[in-house]
Amino acid sequence: MKAAAFDYIRASSADEAVQALAAHEDAKILAGGQSLVPLLNMRLARPSALVDINPIHDLAYVRRSNGQLAIGALTRHRTAETSDLVRQHAPLLAEALRHVGHVTIRNRGTIGGSAAHADPAAELPATLLALDAQLVVRGSGRERVIPAGEFFRGYLQTALEPDEMVAEIRIPVLPEGTRCAVAELARRSGDFALVAIFTALTLEPGGLCRDARIAVAGAGEVPVRATAAEAILAGSTLDEDVISGAAIAVARAVDPPSDIHAPAGYRREMASVLTRRAIGSALSTQRVSDGHPDGGAR
Ligand SMILES: Cc1cc2nc3c(=O)[nH]c(=O)nc-3n(C[C@H](O)[C@H](O)[C@H](O)COP(=O)(O)OP(=O)(O)OC[C@H]3O[C@@H](n4cnc5c(N)ncnc54)[C@H](O)[C@@H]3O)c2cc1C
Repeated sequence: MKAAAFDYIRASSADEAVQALAAHEDAKILAGGQSLVPLLNMRLARPSALVDINPIHDLAYVRRSNGQLAIGALTRHRTAETSDLVRQHAPLLAEALRHVGHVTIRNRGTIGGSAAHADPAAELPATLLALDAQLVVRGSGRERVIPAGEFFRGYLQTALEPDEMVAEIRIPVLPEGTRCAVAELARRSGDFALVAIFTALTLEPGGLCRDARIAVAGAGEVPVRATAAEAILAGSTLDEDVISGAAIAVARAVDPPSDIHAPAGYRREMASVLTRRAIGSALSTQRVSDGHPDGGAR
């Protein structure tokens, strides 16, 4: 099928983009087009206008400032995945992006597009949740900062108003001694996750877990932060009993869907299995201060 007719607006600045959104009812931003164009072609989306932000080169960057990584919305997945700054200070993001589709998709798909698309099975939203990221959102004449925990509102739904766009994503730099891993179950390499676990564990030199973050993709309408499991890990030495307790708590925290890909019970069980796997992988990776992590399980 071909897309329904739409107006095309080529924005040369973020201001121009949000003004165009405000001027056209039902307009949509076009970033990498990796999710939007298939939706257009299948006529599952029929926007009145597309606002193309690809010419806005100053929306593509990775910077470190004030203890945070700042990533421009138009930064391609592959650029962030291979960025030294991301690998050093937010290795969970670099590792998560390796699981997004295939390289050709990551060459075009953008960080802002993945966040705004808000697919609960996608890697980026769950990673932003795990990393306590904030989304800098621009509207006509205004800017606001939304924590990831408040941004994802439902299946493909976010806190964005119709005239707003994601401009930047801010991720607090992970503390020294943090180890990260992703464990994902997908039918084929490059497919969306049936379930995926994203974890960052900050360990004391003696091995005590000072801080734990666990987020789950593919287990509900929005990505889930498994806070009860995190509380079991934080303050403990990560022995077999503690890890088992956390894995059970993750299964209890999720409410996955049953669909043509997998039943809910299987997804819940796999959330538990993958939690054990992710924690095991994180414990065997290098720490943030050691330089580049070698990545976790794929
Ligand atoms: C074959 C295939 C496999 C894939 N596999 C995976 C996978 O395994 N995991 C995964 O996570 N993704 C996967 N994707 C999707 C891919 O990651 C997309 O690139 C991403 O979801 C959207 O980013 P984009 O820049 O392409 O956005 P677009 O497709 O351009 O836009 C997506 C949506 O976000 C909106 N939008 C885009 N940018 C902004 C912004 N800055 N502000 C506000 N709204 C904005 C658009 O209006 C649209 O509604 C796959 C895609 C394909 C085609």
